[in-house]
Amino acid sequence: MKHIRNFCIIAHIDHGKSTLADRLLEHTKTIGSRDMMNQVLDDMDLEREKGITIKSKAIQMDYVINGQQYTLNLIDTPGHVDFSYEVSRALAACEGALLLVDASQGIQAQTISNLYLAIGNDLEIIPVINKIDMDGAMIPEVKDQIIELIGCKDEDILLASGKSGIGIEEILQAVVARIPAPEGNAEAPLEALLFDSVFNSFRGIIAYFRIYNGTIRKGDKVRFLATGAEYEAAEIGVLKLGLEPRKEVKAGDVGYIITGIKTAKDVKVGDTITIASNPGNAIQGFEEVKPMVFAGIFPVVTEDFEELRDCMEKLQLNDASLTYEIETSQALGFGFRCGFLGLLHMEIIQERLEREFNQTVITTVPNVSFIAYTTRDEKIIVNNPAEMPDPVKIDRVEEPFIRAQIITLPEYIGNIMTLCLGKRGILLNQSYLTPTRVELIFEMPLTEIVFDFYDKLKSNTRGYASFDYTPIGYREADIAKMDILLNGDKVDALSALIHRSRAQDFGRKLCEKLKELLPRQQFMIAIQAAVGAKVLARETISAMRKDVTAKCYGGDISRKRKLLEKQKEGKKRMRQIGNVEIPQEAFLAVLKLD
Ligand code: GDP
Ligand code: MG
Repeated sequence: MKHIRNFCIIAHIDHGKSTLADRLLEHTKTIGSRDMMNQVLDDMDLEREKGITIKSKAIQMDYVINGQQYTLNLIDTPGHVDFSYEVSRALAACEGALLLVDASQGIQAQTISNLYLAIGNDLEIIPVINKIDMDGAMIPEVKDQIIELIGCKDEDILLASGKSGIGIEEILQAVVARIPAPEGNAEAPLEALLFDSVFNSFRGIIAYFRIYNGTIRKGDKVRFLATGAEYEAAEIGVLKLGLEPRKEVKAGDVGYIITGIKTAKDVKVGDTITIASNPGNAIQGFEEVKPMVFAGIFPVVTEDFEELRDCMEKLQLNDASLTYEIETSQALGFGFRCGFLGLLHMEIIQERLEREFNQTVITTVPNVSFIAYTTRDEKIIVNNPAEMPDPVKIDRVEEPFIRAQIITLPEYIGNIMTLCLGKRGILLNQSYLTPTRVELIFEMPLTEIVFDFYDKLKSNTRGYASFDYTPIGYREADIAKMDILLNGDKVDALSALIHRSRAQDFGRKLCEKLKELLPRQQFMIAIQAAVGAKVLARETISAMRKDVTAKCYGGDISRKRKLLEKQKEGKKRMRQIGNVEIPQEAFLAVLKLD
């Protein structure tokens, strides 16, 4: 155990975590440069494309210094606010963290939020200024920022470039020298923290763990404490580039277990794995992941519902933070009301359904989870506009609030204030981290973040603002259900829950946007936004005669077929509701209002 080090890399997104991880793996010859594929730890296509790490993973390196071999377990953590629970679980499996800061960007919001999580888990922090090869590197300034933030000494800060391979050996030396070896007793009852799991279609669920106490052996009958599930450890081992089976894994180390578990419900990340016949105690810190954003996911073709259900089940096996239940919509038929950690998570799930599972789906307006108290004092959790009780039966409604942290340059303070106050934000604090770096803290309703906040923040600051948030509980709010009517018919899938003070403006903009997005048809379409019986806005799409083949009547038959095919293609992401065709974009129009 003396020669094990468990560590992770924490950084703001794009500060070079994955690139540096690759260099560490190369330098320790964990992977030969011939097998070297950029960013080994991000092994999903989607992750590579989006440049973010979704699932935390672990990889073991052997590192020799002064003739002594060390086992270094690098645990990869996600870098986006939506996944902060996954970050916290991964951190709990480590004794130390490399705090990576981009030399040209300096400290950003997630640098700070991740640092707080790391400090909260008592990790030894090794500050690293990365990307020092860049022309825009501001080494002295960033050093000052780091010293100010964590109170370390100048000489504690390492300089590196993942791209050019500068400082890699120094980082590995610091990991060995500064991060404490794990403690624990290999003879005690087993206590292992389950910090991640993935689903493999051949092997079932593979769970990653960090052992605090005890030893796990192949064939052991293990118990998952929080769920009570018991399974045989069919295979255990350590994580190199792939899975390496072992007969046993001991306290201090990181490994994997395969039990033939087919249901994600039994494998809750944050749970403790122990031996059924000689159980240890739960490792504290287990928390159920709570979805923050809800939306409907429906098959484009109603007949595909059963197939979509299979896919949702499989997806949930490898993403336990996804929740879903069956939802019926008058407009869209059978589908699922899904709970996501945030908007990015929602986007990722939709893309994975399409790419990995070959499903074409319609996603509806996302909303946060409200709480409605009825006049009879019942408490109703509202994850779907359709679940909001009749207004006459409502005593009050509460909405989730967050504490938002924004870090920016002083010249953008004005724009950010306007944006956040316009979104019902309350400024709590403004402080200069350095003369050129300001931190603004707001309390804001989460629902305002769900609609278009990120895009606005980006455009109002030319990208020079970073953002992070934590939930701070529920507060009373005047929330109304806004319905959209097409030719007088309510389309439930377009309903949204919104603060009453915003309803008029929101309704007007939404109608305008829908006018843009709905294709013209052979008859007129009236678009109305209403709260209860009160119509707040109206737009009209005039009729159009549309027969794409008319033009080539009697002409070239293959051209005619091509046109028909093209028209069919265009229909793919549409749903026919009443007599109106609605494209996918229209269901998410609320996210794109100006
Ligand atoms: P992550 O989001 O923290 O995992 O960051 P990545 O490793 O994906 O890197 C983000 C971007 O920065 C990519 O375009 C990298 O090529 C680039 N990058 C990473 N490390 C360095 C570095 O040391 N120097 C320079 N110049 N670019 C880097
Ligand atoms: Mg990455």
